[in-house]
Amino acid sequence: RAKAESGSVVRFFEKDMDARVRERSVIERELRRALADGDIHPCYQPVVDLGTGAISGAEALARWHHRELGSIAPERFIPVAEECGLIAALGDHLLRVACRDALDWPPAMTLSINVSPVQLREPGFGLRVLAILGEVGLSPTRLELEITENTLVRDLKASQAALGALRAAGVRIALDDFGTGYSSLYHLRNFPVDRIKVDRSFVDSIDAENESAAIVRALLGLGHGLGIAVTAEGIESARQRDFLIGQGCDQGQGFLYAPALPASELRRLIAEKTSKASAG
Ligand code: C2E
Ligand code: MG
Ligand code: MG
Ligand code: MG
Repeated sequence: RAKAESGSVVRFFEKDMDARVRERSVIERELRRALADGDIHPCYQPVVDLGTGAISGAEALARWHHRELGSIAPERFIPVAEECGLIAALGDHLLRVACRDALDWPPAMTLSINVSPVQLREPGFGLRVLAILGEVGLSPTRLELEITENTLVRDLKASQAALGALRAAGVRIALDDFGTGYSSLYHLRNFPVDRIKVDRSFVDSIDAENESAAIVRALLGLGHGLGIAVTAEGIESARQRDFLIGQGCDQGQGFLYAPALPASELRRLIAEKTSKASAG
């Protein structure tokens, strides 16, 4: 009986694998086409100064709407792009478009963009980022690269070299999804970062669990103790926001404020906020 059961489990996995392999090859094929046609573009989630409510920046998030398949989430196509050697071209494209869009924002606003470990490992990554900034005419001081801790674990030396050069040029570095990776504290000591982004999972459970509130408080103490700005991700409720403001969290983003918006909608939101601010 056990044998029959394990046999069906194997078949189940095989079927599952098969479907996954097929989906992956469809995405790979469509990804090549989308890249050539420029069908993947960034949308922008506002980053808000929690103290004042002002928009201090925006995070570029890749969006792909496929004619037949509908919206395809970055978590589905970024890994495929990494595996089939398309991530550098995709990353450059997204960075170039995002830098151009950022030229329309107030100069104090920061553009944050996610960088995949595969991109970071590629020789010449730092130089290409600086070349794109130069070509578009956006100051390096307006750009922040978001990397996950796991990126650093895999290739500390290579990451240090690439990010060191970028940082020397004025680009800022944020540790994304902070608290979910291995050796978070190790990296804060061995790696110069400008910001930590507290992972959404901690913010999400602030209301429900005392543990999460304690962890968020500790991460804020850690960041501020080291002179690093702290952003909270995934703020969805006023209670979460109020808790974070009470604890002195610097910036925040989440559906409570806005989801990722097309460039034109972000511009409209910025204009609305500035006219309100100057009116009263
Ligand atoms: P991330 O960088 O940690 O981005 C935050 C994710 O949380 C985004 O999902 C965003 O839409 C979502 N989010 C923001 N606020 C809320 C909220 O209040 N509640 C909830 N439930 N979710 C919220 P998205 O756009 O699907 O991106 C997922 C991940 O894919 C990103 O995580 C990032 O790791 C990766 N990614 C997205 N765009 C790019 C890109 O251009 N390049 C690379 N390399 N990775 C990207
Ligand atoms: Mg991010
Ligand atoms: Mg994150
Ligand atoms: Mg994430």
